[in-house]
Amino acid sequence: MTQLVNLMEETVFNKIDELWTNTEYCKCESCRMDIATYALNRLPPQYVQSLKGKVLYRFASQQTQSDVDVTVVVEKAIGIVGNAPHRNTDQTE
Ligand SMILES: [Zn+2]
Repeated sequence: MTQLVNLMEETVFNKIDELWTNTEYCKCESCRMDIATYALNRLPPQYVQSLKGKVLYRFASQQTQSDVDVTVVVEKAIGIVGNAPHRNTDQTE
Protein backbone atom coordinates (compact mmCIF):
# COMPACT_ATOMS: atom_id res chain seq x y z
CA MET A 1 0.00 0.00 0.00
CA THR A 2 1.26 3.44 -0.89
CA GLN A 3 1.49 5.87 1.98
CA LEU A 4 2.01 9.58 2.10
CA VAL A 5 5.41 10.84 3.17
CA ASN A 6 6.26 14.40 4.15
CA LEU A 7 9.68 14.97 2.60
CA MET A 8 10.10 18.07 4.72
CA GLU A 9 10.45 15.85 7.80
CA GLU A 10 13.51 14.12 6.41
CA THR A 11 14.92 17.43 5.18
CA VAL A 12 14.49 19.04 8.60
CA PHE A 13 16.04 16.11 10.49
CA ASN A 14 19.01 16.09 8.12
CA LYS A 15 19.43 19.83 8.65
CA ILE A 16 19.19 19.52 12.44
CA ASP A 17 21.93 16.88 12.49
CA GLU A 18 24.06 19.05 10.20
CA LEU A 19 23.75 22.28 12.20
CA TRP A 20 23.46 20.79 15.69
CA THR A 21 26.96 19.31 15.83
CA ASN A 22 28.51 22.79 15.98
CA THR A 23 26.54 23.84 19.08
CA GLU A 24 26.94 23.22 22.80
CA TYR A 25 23.21 22.66 23.33
CA CYS A 26 21.62 19.60 24.90
CA LYS A 27 21.36 16.90 22.24
CA CYS A 28 18.84 14.49 23.73
CA GLU A 29 15.98 12.99 21.71
CA SER A 30 13.46 15.25 23.45
CA CYS A 31 15.28 18.39 22.31
CA ARG A 32 15.67 16.96 18.81
CA MET A 33 11.94 16.42 18.56
CA ASP A 34 11.21 19.90 19.97
CA ILE A 35 13.44 21.43 17.30
CA ALA A 36 11.80 19.36 14.57
CA THR A 37 8.31 20.28 15.79
CA TYR A 38 9.12 23.98 15.85
CA ALA A 39 10.65 23.89 12.37
CA LEU A 40 8.00 21.68 10.74
CA ASN A 41 5.20 23.92 12.00
CA ARG A 42 6.82 26.83 10.16
CA LEU A 43 7.81 25.17 6.89
CA PRO A 44 5.53 24.04 4.06
CA PRO A 45 5.00 20.27 3.94
CA GLN A 46 6.13 18.38 0.84
CA TYR A 47 3.94 15.33 0.60
CA VAL A 48 4.68 12.61 -1.91
CA GLN A 49 3.57 9.03 -2.33
CA SER A 50 6.12 6.82 -0.66
CA LEU A 51 6.76 4.73 -3.79
CA LYS A 52 8.00 7.80 -5.65
CA GLY A 53 9.53 9.44 -2.63
CA LYS A 54 13.15 8.60 -3.20
CA VAL A 55 13.35 10.11 -6.65
CA LEU A 56 11.43 13.20 -5.63
CA TYR A 57 13.50 13.67 -2.50
CA ARG A 58 16.59 14.05 -4.62
CA PHE A 59 14.76 16.66 -6.67
CA ALA A 60 13.51 18.52 -3.61
CA SER A 61 16.90 18.63 -1.91
CA GLN A 62 18.33 20.35 -4.98
CA GLN A 63 16.04 23.32 -4.61
CA THR A 64 18.46 25.84 -3.18
CA GLN A 65 15.94 28.45 -2.08
CA SER A 66 14.01 25.84 -0.16
CA ASP A 67 17.24 24.70 1.51
CA VAL A 68 18.00 28.27 2.57
CA ASP A 69 14.54 28.59 4.12
CA VAL A 70 14.97 25.30 5.98
CA THR A 71 18.38 26.37 7.28
CA VAL A 72 17.04 29.67 8.63
CA VAL A 73 14.09 28.05 10.41
CA VAL A 74 16.12 25.14 11.82
CA GLU A 75 18.85 27.48 13.07
CA LYS A 76 16.22 29.54 14.88
CA ALA A 77 14.61 26.40 16.31
CA ILE A 78 17.96 25.10 17.59
CA GLY A 79 18.60 28.41 19.36
CA ILE A 80 15.16 28.60 20.95
CA VAL A 81 15.10 24.99 22.14
CA GLY A 82 18.78 25.08 23.13
CA ASN A 83 18.28 28.12 25.34
CA ALA A 84 15.13 26.72 26.95
CA PRO A 85 15.45 22.93 26.78
CA HIS A 86 12.86 20.41 27.97
CA ARG A 87 9.82 22.60 27.57
CA ASN A 88 7.19 22.44 24.92
CA THR A 89 8.60 25.50 23.19
CA ASP A 90 6.03 25.48 20.45
CA GLN A 91 3.31 26.53 22.87
CA THR A 92 5.25 29.14 24.82
CA GLU A 93 6.13 31.43 21.94
ZN1 LIG B 1 17.53 17.85 25.96
